[in-house]
Amino acid sequence: MSFTVAIVGRPNVGKSTFFNRLLESRKAIVDDVSGVTRDRQYGITDWNGRTFNVIDTGGFVVGSDDVFETEIRKQVKIAIDEADVLVFMTDAAVGITELDEAMADMLRRTKRPVFLAVNKVDNSERQLAATEFYSMGFDSIFFLSSMTGSGTGELLDAVTEMMPVDAEETEIGENELPRFAIMGQPNVGKSSLLNALIGEERTIVSDIAGTTRDTIHTHYNLYQKEFILIDTAGIRKKSKEKDDLEFYSIIRAIKAMDEADVCLLLIDADKGITAQDINIYSLAARKGKGIVVLVNKWDLIEGKETNTARDYEKNLKQRLAPFNDVPIVFISAKDKTRIFKGIELAIEVFENKKRKVQTSVLNEVMLKAVQAYRAPVVRGHAITIKYVTQLPTQTPSFAFFSNFPDDIKQPYKNYLENQLRKNFDFKGVPVRLFFRKK
Ligand code: GDP
Ligand code: GDP
Repeated sequence: MSFTVAIVGRPNVGKSTFFNRLLESRKAIVDDVSGVTRDRQYGITDWNGRTFNVIDTGGFVVGSDDVFETEIRKQVKIAIDEADVLVFMTDAAVGITELDEAMADMLRRTKRPVFLAVNKVDNSERQLAATEFYSMGFDSIFFLSSMTGSGTGELLDAVTEMMPVDAEETEIGENELPRFAIMGQPNVGKSSLLNALIGEERTIVSDIAGTTRDTIHTHYNLYQKEFILIDTAGIRKKSKEKDDLEFYSIIRAIKAMDEADVCLLLIDADKGITAQDINIYSLAARKGKGIVVLVNKWDLIEGKETNTARDYEKNLKQRLAPFNDVPIVFISAKDKTRIFKGIELAIEVFENKKRKVQTSVLNEVMLKAVQAYRAPVVRGHAITIKYVTQLPTQTPSFAFFSNFPDDIKQPYKNYLENQLRKNFDFKGVPVRLFFRKK
């Protein structure tokens, strides 16, 4: 399931303040190929238990009026193309400006829902002044202060109400084929990998329309392994400008990720893992996706003894921590080395993601682990865990019932997760632990 909210508005109205508040401490994916544009940002957040993508389409640095004109067009176009809902931000401290009007004109013409967010309503005086924004004629208007957070909840309630009823948190069907997405930065070898895979055999079974506008699902049957590859490549040429194209490609990649069960994350062996790779990795992990890391261009690495791969892997795992129980495979798309291994591992990860541990087995193992190492006493009371059960969700989730669920600290949660991983195979799969009162 993919749902994307874009924040648009002229510079300095508070878009990035709002965006950062949504993401809190979470890492955004920043597209900092700036020409005239300020960094564009992309991230995920959740509200009322519903997860969605957020795009801050960026501001533009001060220039001539022409620059403004083309920049707002670009910004609005990206937002309309890529988002399901638009948040149009304005500034109560300044009032309605010409640029606001120009943007409003463009936004009124879209069929997408537009929420007018009048920002910087920090106090009641501003609240009064802000009423002038009713004159812009948008049905949905919200007064908020991104700085203090007041009013942001109402806006987010309205935004999440637009989301379709969530199919995400139901189990994967018995006969569903695994859906993979190949992810990675430009030039890492994504198309080479695809060509290497499909060049082997005539493998395409059929094209299936994606569930969102921008993805293609292709059904493959490769060496008796069936899977669906989700791709966003080459759908439409959106823009002649390179920085726009890159931003579109990030957004597209994340939509493909949303629809995938397992992400095949390519990194460049020669360059090593980059901060952007880690951002994509943790985004996939937060979205509960299965992950296989493919270290591509391994042919370029000199002296490939076992040790080289082992050291490389050790290093990589450190960079991927805390969640690093993932398969890592060294491939060359060019020489077609171990690429099929990559697919096999992705299928294994898919199986792990579907794994359901029987409650009796789960309790036997996990209660033993709890006995072997007890949660530390908090405020004089002993913490006990009485019962564990796996929830019927797509991302393996476990509910631990305890007398004091809120007093269980992170290190102990980590211990429980490690025990789960040690006893049951969840390699490549993020798991979620919930603690409930019993
Ligand atoms: P952007 O260019 O639209 O992304 O705007 P920024 O988020 O960079 O904010 C521009 C300025 O407005 C910054 O100095 C912010 O601190 C300030 N600002 C943002 N939100 C609020 C708010 O709710 N109240 C007030 N008083 N200032 C705000
Ligand atoms: P994409 O942008 O991620 O789709 O990357 P491409 O598949 O277009 O590859 C970018 C460049 O890397 C091309 O010049 C490829 O020939 C090269 N490349 C891809 N895979 C390998 C590999 O395994 N080894 C080497 N040496 N080069 C590769």
